[in-house]
Amino acid sequence: MAEKRDYYEVLGVSKSATQDEIKSAYRKLAKKYHPDNKETGDAEKFKEASEAYSVLGDENKRKTYDQFGHAAFDQNAGGANPFNGSGFEGFNFNGGDFSDLNDILNSMFGGFGGFGSRSRNSYSGPIKGGDTLLRIRIKFMDAVKGTKLTIPLNYEETCERCHGNGAKNGTALDTCPDCKGRGRIVTQQRTIFGMMQSESACPRCHGTGKIIRESCPECAGKGYKKVKKDIEVSIPQGINDGQRIRVSGKGERGINGGANGDLYIEVVVQKHDSFVRDGNDIYLTVPVDFYDCCLGTEISVPTCYGEEKLTIPAGTQPGAILKIKGKGVKDVRSDRYGDQFVNIEVKIPTKLSREQKKLLENYKETTNKDDNFFAKFKKTFKL
Ligand SMILES: [Zn+2]
Ligand SMILES: [Zn+2]
Repeated sequence: MAEKRDYYEVLGVSKSATQDEIKSAYRKLAKKYHPDNKETGDAEKFKEASEAYSVLGDENKRKTYDQFGHAAFDQNAGGANPFNGSGFEGFNFNGGDFSDLNDILNSMFGGFGGFGSRSRNSYSGPIKGGDTLLRIRIKFMDAVKGTKLTIPLNYEETCERCHGNGAKNGTALDTCPDCKGRGRIVTQQRTIFGMMQSESACPRCHGTGKIIRESCPECAGKGYKKVKKDIEVSIPQGINDGQRIRVSGKGERGINGGANGDLYIEVVVQKHDSFVRDGNDIYLTVPVDFYDCCLGTEISVPTCYGEEKLTIPAGTQPGAILKIKGKGVKDVRSDRYGDQFVNIEVKIPTKLSREQKKLLENYKETTNKDDNFFAKFKKTFKL
């Protein structure tokens, strides 16, 4: 077995260095030698530094090391250990130092495979469940006016009887003997960088670090129950396509008694046959007879809130857009309303009675042929 370097020497700190100095020395080395670092990466040196930090970074282990040297930490390096002196054999993963180390590495590299994922995975306290998304189709007018919907839901809820720990009467759990309560077990893997340690959830306790002595009769030890419930959801007035409503606590169940995540209901608003919505404004196209556009009139126009009188001024042109103030959609976050815009589609009759024809011919005679719209256009037209 190759001679092992002194841990203080590896980290380049003095025997009297503070814990902060040790941490910062390791941080620098880990950054420099990490295998992901293309310029100065060195897997062997990285492992050496990590091993040194796993001991010196922990005050108790450091004391033991100061007293007994490497011999104190070689309990995992039995004769069956296939690698010699350069591996992780000095690591003691049963202590709390590893998550600390993991935190440092996570903060620098955003986590990487060799050390398992985030230290959160070794945390065995309550964890809030994930959020879920449900898309529902609602009618156009329900979005404009708001409505209440009853939605049948299937979700899982923390068992009230055991408060999610799965034990009878919610009594304290035993520490898992396989992982000694860490919830994670360490396995070794041969990689191109040499032997790498990797962590995974303990199969016995499923990562919780605890095992149940007697199961809760309510949930059979699962800690949660399946719930089938109709929930009533208020769709606020003015909601628009793609907007979401949060229903607190109806998402994925939490872990270890943690709260449920939230359910987000995303509305898909159906199109209306005539109204077109743009933000909080409503557009409506209405056909109007040409003579009403010429002479002007008052019409009664449908809005989302009933009929509204609209004055068509004399001389209204095809495509004119008239506004009915405040008859759009209520803003979902305030009391303001959008407007309704009425697009005037001038209608020309395709059939005329003899009398109508005569009247229009009379009308035509009153206009100067050399000064009608088309004649004016021709006069000013240039190629
Ligand atoms: Zn229970
Ligand atoms: Zn376990």
